[in-house]
Amino acid sequence: MEIVGFKSFADRTKIEFDQGVTAVVGPNGSGKSNIVESLRWVLGEQSAKALRGGKMPDVIFSGTEKRRAMNFAEVTAYFDNSDHYLAGHDDEDEVIISRRLYRNGDSEFMLNGKKCRLRDLHELFLDTGLGRDSLSIISQGRIESVFNSKPEERRAIFEEAAGVLKYKSRRNETESKLKSTQDNMDRLEDIIYELN
Ligand code: ATP
Repeated sequence: MEIVGFKSFADRTKIEFDQGVTAVVGPNGSGKSNIVESLRWVLGEQSAKALRGGKMPDVIFSGTEKRRAMNFAEVTAYFDNSDHYLAGHDDEDEVIISRRLYRNGDSEFMLNGKKCRLRDLHELFLDTGLGRDSLSIISQGRIESVFNSKPEERRAIFEEAAGVLKYKSRRNETESKLKSTQDNMDRLEDIIYELN
C-alpha cells in the first residue's frame, strides 16, 4: 500500500504486507490506526465519522509546526491477483486501486490506472469479504460493541460474516410474495364461487 498526504502520512509511505501476519507497533499517536483507516478509505469508505473526522477533507494532512498542510491525500493499494480471484480481472496478476481527494472536495478513483466510479470498486470487492462494509476490518470500538452486545446481536455479526444474512432477507422477501399470492388465490376462489 502507498500513502501520501493521508492524515499523519505527509511523506510518501510504502507499507508491504507480506505472507502471514503483519503487526504494526509504535507509540501512542504514531499513526497505527491511520494505516488501517487509509486502507478502509481506499476501499471506498464514505463516512468521515468512521475515519474519526468531521468531514472527508479532514483526512488530508493538516500540517504540523514544521510542515505545511497538504492539498490532497492519496492512497494506492496493490492486490496480488496471481490466483485471479478478483472477478473481471482473470488475466491480471495485480489489481491496483487508488483514491485521491483534494481540499476543495474534488476526488477521483482509479482502477488499474484508469479513472473509475466508486461503484466499480464496490462491485470489484462484492462477495470477496474485503469491501468497505465487510468484517475484515474490525475497529477498536467495534470489538467493544461485540463484547457488550446481546447474544442475538452477536449472532447477526456471525451471520453477516458467514454470508447468511443475504439469504435470510431473500427468504423474507419470498415469504411475503408467497403470502400475497395466496391472498390473490383466495380472492379468485371467492369470485369463481360467486360466478358459479
Ligand atoms: P494509539 O496507539 O493511541 O491508538 P495510533 O498509533 O493508532 O495511536 P493514530 O490514531 O493512527 O495513532 O494517529 C493519530 C495521530 O495522527 C495524531 O497525532 C494526529 O494528530 C494525527 N493526525 C490525524 N489526522 C491528521 C491530519 N489530517 N493531519 C495530520 N495529522 C493527523
